[in-house]
Amino acid sequence: MQRAHRRGRSAAPDLDRVGMKILSISDVVVSLVQSPAIAQRFSDIDLVLGCGDLPFDYMEYIVTMLGRPLFHVYGNHAQHKRLSANGTLRSAHPEGCINIHRRVINYRGLIIGGLEGSMRYREGPHQYTQREMALQALSMAPQLWLNRLRYGRAIDILITHAPPFGIHDGADLCHQGFLALLSFMDRYKPRYLIHGHTHLYRQDARRVTRYNETLVVNTYGYQIIEIDETTLGRAGGS
Ligand SMILES: [Zn+2]
Repeated sequence: MQRAHRRGRSAAPDLDRVGMKILSISDVVVSLVQSPAIAQRFSDIDLVLGCGDLPFDYMEYIVTMLGRPLFHVYGNHAQHKRLSANGTLRSAHPEGCINIHRRVINYRGLIIGGLEGSMRYREGPHQYTQREMALQALSMAPQLWLNRLRYGRAIDILITHAPPFGIHDGADLCHQGFLALLSFMDRYKPRYLIHGHTHLYRQDARRVTRYNETLVVNTYGYQIIEIDETTLGRAGGS
């Protein structure tokens, strides 16, 4: 009955059950995740979201063991060099994982976008000034507006490496958050913004902050997020 009701509303395509369970990861390797027990412990996970600064072999391990898609963005510490069999360094990306920086995808009716990197604080890739990040976010606008016309909402989840400015961020340049992520939430009203980059050293450190219609989640280590798919059509409406 519920299924018929959902189809009747037809806000989101390809939904075949009510709940979607997400494993989000970033910054540190968690032994609970990188263990043979992962297949049992996280057997009901539908997809994995990577928010950066993780070893590629850790991400590949998760994809292989769970057999679920892993969408991710890079952090400021991404290492793109790997030792090949003949001893030379080669450029590499995590195999079997899907980079969604500046992309907006639809996975089983869940609309997910990504913005990589941190504030520019030194030479190297995956770092942006405030203005550069604003331009990165702007490049996603056509797809987001199209989604709003098509589904009645622009996006459900934005994954980033760095946090928004003033939320879970730090005072130093490296850990300062992006202003563009505040505007993004104002404009497109994602249900979640999931980020990493800010390390948590205490059990009671703040992980979740509400910003208007968005829950900002610091996934440092790992988090489990459950989405009720029947409510997706209502998120971030008009
Ligand atoms: Zn970082």
